[in-house]
Amino acid sequence: MFWNEQLETIERKALEKLQLEKLRKALAAAATTPFYKKVFADNGVDVSRITTLDHLRDLPLTTKHDLRLSYPDGMVAVPRTEIVRLHASSGTTGKSTVIFYTAKDLADWADLIARSMMATGTTRNDVFQNMMGYGLFTGGLGLHYGAERLGCLVIPSSTGNSLKQIELMKDFGTTVVHITPSYAMHLADVVSENGINPPDLGIKKAYLGAEPYSEGVKKKIEGQWGLDAYNSYGLSEMNGPGVAFECEYKNGMHLWEDYYIMEIINPDTGERLPDGEEGELVLTHINREAMPIIRYRTRDLTRIIPEKCACGRTHRRIERIKGRTDDMLIVGGVNVFPSQIETVLMNVPEVGNNYQIVLDRHNNLDRIHVRVELYNKMFEGDIKALDALRKKIVERLKALITVNPKVELLEPGSLPPSMGKAVRVIDKREI
Ligand code: AMP
Ligand code: ZN
Repeated sequence: MFWNEQLETIERKALEKLQLEKLRKALAAAATTPFYKKVFADNGVDVSRITTLDHLRDLPLTTKHDLRLSYPDGMVAVPRTEIVRLHASSGTTGKSTVIFYTAKDLADWADLIARSMMATGTTRNDVFQNMMGYGLFTGGLGLHYGAERLGCLVIPSSTGNSLKQIELMKDFGTTVVHITPSYAMHLADVVSENGINPPDLGIKKAYLGAEPYSEGVKKKIEGQWGLDAYNSYGLSEMNGPGVAFECEYKNGMHLWEDYYIMEIINPDTGERLPDGEEGELVLTHINREAMPIIRYRTRDLTRIIPEKCACGRTHRRIERIKGRTDDMLIVGGVNVFPSQIETVLMNVPEVGNNYQIVLDRHNNLDRIHVRVELYNKMFEGDIKALDALRKKIVERLKALITVNPKVELLEPGSLPPSMGKAVRVIDKREI
């Protein structure tokens, strides 16, 4: 029922026609909101003149800052009585922004989540444990209603309380989980500490999202738990999760193009880039009544995968998010993404589940301090082996960032465990 073959394998031409129809509706609705009324007037935009998808590139971009400026309801396109829910972004980068939904918006969102879950092979026979935060954050309730729509048995366990999570998994035979990658690794340790081999719990699939992570982390989680992990991408401004999801081929995320129009731009110039080139993802929501958002700058860096997917879906895929244009670190003048450091660490087999990057400045020079948890067994051997390992990590990081990093090796559990989005970078530099 949620495998909509006609819509998911639609010919590109027909898809673009559908997108244009929906775009024109979304623009007309946006033009009634105080925020876009002003933006369109200031930029001389007449939405009735947008008659091809290509015209979209002439419209101004919308930023998170704009959402804050129009707080609380400057972008709302329906009467207050039509709105049935609000969510707010987790505010990883500053004050939160608020998103509103009509009943139809919520139903459409649930359909899209059901579609995404089905694309990974989940069915109504599955038991789905949702370990994302319930509340203002979209990760909890978003997947919740989609999984119910699909007919799964849903366990709304939310974040934290690891022992309870494990008990629920055992007692109800959880087969699919939704979890942040950092918490998945932490929980695997807690399971092991309690004398259980994680694969024995029988979990088959994990949906990993909400924060950037590397392919190495994904592989590690698959190995620890003995399951298939699927990348799940979304952001509250575009509803929440369900914007893009990996299918059973686990090879990039299908971005659901009947709900969203995607563009990749050069983050410095705003210019649109051709398919396949890496840049900032810009999204237009063409399927929301309460709050149409046009050309939203996600700040997420990725690339469109132009090749067809083996599953037959025609909605194009995006590659895993490499980082954000605004979490890029500049260390001693060199641009570094935390994900690159993570990739180096995850390629070292002795490295455990948690790490932290601390930046500070001494005599005007940037210093980078990488604190890494190792597996317990590393501390049973001799100190020489530890020192050799430390040097190896220093060398590999140095090759990446040129600045000489300080590397500290820690016993498991030394760093604060992460329950929600992991805080990996502590920047103590004053700028
Ligand atoms: P929020 O609006 O609070 O849900 O945060 C959305 C942001 O979380 C996105 O813009 C991304 O930066 C990040 N995010 C969500 N899912 C993923 C994912 N699968 N991979 C990398 N980053 C993600
Ligand atoms: Zn596919």
